[in-house]
Amino acid sequence: MVVVQRRKLTLAERLYLPEVFRGLAITFRKMFQPRVTRQYPEEGLPKTEVTRGQPRLVVKDDGNIACVSCGLCEAACPAYAITIDGQETDRFIEREPERFDIDMLRCILCGFCEEACPKDAIFMSDELELADYSRRALVYDMDKLKRPASDMRARMDYVKRINGRWGVEA
Ligand code: SF4
Ligand code: SF4
Repeated sequence: MVVVQRRKLTLAERLYLPEVFRGLAITFRKMFQPRVTRQYPEEGLPKTEVTRGQPRLVVKDDGNIACVSCGLCEAACPAYAITIDGQETDRFIEREPERFDIDMLRCILCGFCEEACPKDAIFMSDELELADYSRRALVYDMDKLKRPASDMRARMDYVKRINGRWGVEA
């Protein structure tokens, strides 16, 4: 039979005094360090091309979106947030979405849709804020999702650069 010999605690240890003083020392030290509290929303979050906000459909310079309604982003979306209905078109791309919805309440900002798209049609924007008065209003349709390429340029260039590391066309 194994007998476990427990060390006898001192009075200070039984009163948790070492931990109390260690905690007070940390608090005292932090009082003289710069504060990191951000006054959000008055003070916005820093945004860069790495910021992965809500997905948006890029509107090219000719006024069209590049989406060919292939459904790859819909299939890749782990949150089942994307719904696409395709239709024929006379444009060179042959198919385009008749309906392209993203349920922003489902979207987890994972970026899989951006990675899955073979046509550079959908990218993660730096838009992070999301608020409205009904669930329905937060299902964004094509009109709400479209953003000019000029607004998305930094992110598009960034994705092209990181995909370039693996020899993948962005
Ligand atoms: S970012 Fe992720 S969760 Fe959101 S729509 Fe794209 S694939 Fe779906
Ligand atoms: S956004 Fe891209 S992946 Fe999604 S349906 Fe359009 S072309 Fe396909």
